[in-house]
Amino acid sequence: MTLEAESKSIAAQFDYSDGDVNKAVKEFLRQLDEGLQKDGTSLSQIPTYVTGVPNGTEKGLYMAVDLGGTNFRVCSIQLNGDTTFNLTFSKVAIPKELMVAKTAQELFAFLAKQIELFLKEHHEDHFEQHVRRRMTISSPDGFRDEHVFRLGFTFSFPVQQIGINKGTLIRWTKGFDIPDAIGKDVCALLQEEIDKLHLPVKVAALVNDTVGTLMARSYSSPGKTGTVLGAIFGTGTNGAYVEKLSNLKKSLSGEFDKSTGEMVINTEWGSFDNQLSVLPSTPWDVALDKASTNPGIQMYEKRVSGMFLGEILRLVIVDLLKNKDVAFFKDENSSSNDWKSTTNIVADSSIYKQWGLDTAIMSVAAADGTPELSTLRGELENQLGVHAAGLDDAQAFKSIAFAIGRRAARLSAVAIAAIVLQTGKLTDPANQDEPIDIGVDGSLVEHYPYFRDMIYEALAIIDGIGPEGAKRIRIGIAKDGSGVGAALIALVAAGMEKSMSTQDYLGELRSNAKENNLTAVPEDAENAAAD
Ligand code: ADP
Ligand code: MG
Repeated sequence: MTLEAESKSIAAQFDYSDGDVNKAVKEFLRQLDEGLQKDGTSLSQIPTYVTGVPNGTEKGLYMAVDLGGTNFRVCSIQLNGDTTFNLTFSKVAIPKELMVAKTAQELFAFLAKQIELFLKEHHEDHFEQHVRRRMTISSPDGFRDEHVFRLGFTFSFPVQQIGINKGTLIRWTKGFDIPDAIGKDVCALLQEEIDKLHLPVKVAALVNDTVGTLMARSYSSPGKTGTVLGAIFGTGTNGAYVEKLSNLKKSLSGEFDKSTGEMVINTEWGSFDNQLSVLPSTPWDVALDKASTNPGIQMYEKRVSGMFLGEILRLVIVDLLKNKDVAFFKDENSSSNDWKSTTNIVADSSIYKQWGLDTAIMSVAAADGTPELSTLRGELENQLGVHAAGLDDAQAFKSIAFAIGRRAARLSAVAIAAIVLQTGKLTDPANQDEPIDIGVDGSLVEHYPYFRDMIYEALAIIDGIGPEGAKRIRIGIAKDGSGVGAALIALVAAGMEKSMSTQDYLGELRSNAKENNLTAVPEDAENAAAD
């Protein structure tokens, strides 16, 4: 069999037909509803106790950290109250060994250290002042509460939220595995390590990245309607949306504001259809799952998100390299190579190692429109140690990678469509002139060429949406969504701190900010709280 024929037949195994898409949307709607009725279902449908989305008028200076899956980001955010913000951030890759550390303490100590470095680098004056104050004021924490930065903690793993800054870890995903942390309050774990370093920081809010994305998009998006869905397509995938309280049948323990009649629900859709009743499954999907840290779970995520697409492709490629009937990444001699060299692959290529192929190279493949695919061939050499890949090799790589990426985009459309249908906004007569706004974040949706176009293409063939409906759905990147969103929720939390006079704490914070040349601080945190 020629390489071309073989790669075509492999790519075809990743086809996900219009019929399949429609079937999956129906099942998604069923599982969404099931999760609203009771606990322990496929989609966890976690109530967030966030009962409204912002409108762009919120103000203040907050800190936010984001433990995503690949990176840890620390930022400070000035919300200007006019839909704009100023953001300062730093980012570090999470060391692989910490993802599987023996104790949670090791990971959280690393996170606290990054917060310290950030404060020293970007808010040095503020930081020094706090250290001085600590030495002069005696209080249990070393400094008075009002001098403390409120921090929104974006923690993008499934947690059972039991308060605005309290939540216990349900399970790890995305390759993390620190059993010691399961069942513990992740805010307390972080606060403990922050306190060990004597930092003037209070973990004020626990935020899922999807909720942060929803809030951030709603703060910054134009128009009068709020955003209905925040979705992540990064290392993992998940979504949070605005649900009617009347549809939420399972019991809610915490206190919350019932006046809006709505609550943001974190779907944890990475676990959609773990039972594989509608999800597609190739031999490579099966192999990936078997070798993962969590077999049988996050089955939707394993077909959609950045952590896994590269690994699916890697498994396909390793099989192709083993196949004696096709010449892939190898030549008899230089005559069969269009660059008149001989292709070979280094023995210690990362292609032979689990997670050795970064999904980013699939974006390079999809973006390379040159006749010789020279950019892709360069990357194959740099990243995977493939010397002088032939044009036919690069074409095979590209077509298989594209099939995997396209299937992921069509699967993404399934979740988006189901939630749009669930909100009823397409048919609501009161909502006919407004777009249905969706915020997305994550490297995959941001950088994979045509990912959103492929989502739209699939939305247009879905029953109940169609081409007209698809046009009304506005999917926008909420860049830095998790940081801004976490700041917005920290703002809500600050407004809820009833134990002290808000006026007092704001007064102090304001005069501090003036001294430090930090322009605005919450003018009116109580009224500015998301509504
Ligand atoms: P996090 O999930 O930690 O918030 P990101 O949103 O940046 O981080 O997502 C990181 C994931 O995106 C990784 O799995 C990585 O392989 C993938 N990725 C990074 N760059 C690209 C790219 N250019 N195209 C496609 N996927 C990418
Ligand atoms: Mg992220």
